[in-house]
Amino acid sequence: MSSDCLFCRIAAGDIPATIRYQDDLVVVFEDINPQAPTHLLLVPRRHIPTTLDLTPEDNALVGHIFQVAAKVADNLGFAQDGFRIVNNCNQAGGQTVWHLHFHLLGQRQLSWPPG
Ligand code: 5GP
Ligand code: ZN
Repeated sequence: MSSDCLFCRIAAGDIPATIRYQDDLVVVFEDINPQAPTHLLLVPRRHIPTTLDLTPEDNALVGHIFQVAAKVADNLGFAQDGFRIVNNCNQAGGQTVWHLHFHLLGQRQLSWPPG
């Protein structure tokens, strides 16, 4: 837990968010500035700044996060229609919060390539 990290504080319950799922490893909550009818953020409880900081010990964690994303998409009823999982890494990737997170976007037709 990093007390100056927004997503650590949301995961700890210090800052409110609309939480859709949580377990020992991950917290899923609604993005404050949604880019699709469903726009959730999947955040590991542990403070990991970026994708570049992942180690082999995190392999199961990342796999778990993807399985949670799929389960949440299924529960919300858009898994079969399709959805997108996005991770932005560092400045050129569009990262603005330095706590690893995955965007889950669904319930609209998404275009490609992304901006
Ligand atoms: P990034 O740009 O780092 O990939 O994504 C950060 C995301 O966090 C953005 O989509 C932004 O809208 C979201 N965000 C920023 N501040 C807050 C907040 O205080 N609460 C919630 N729920 N989302 C936030
Ligand atoms: Zn953090």
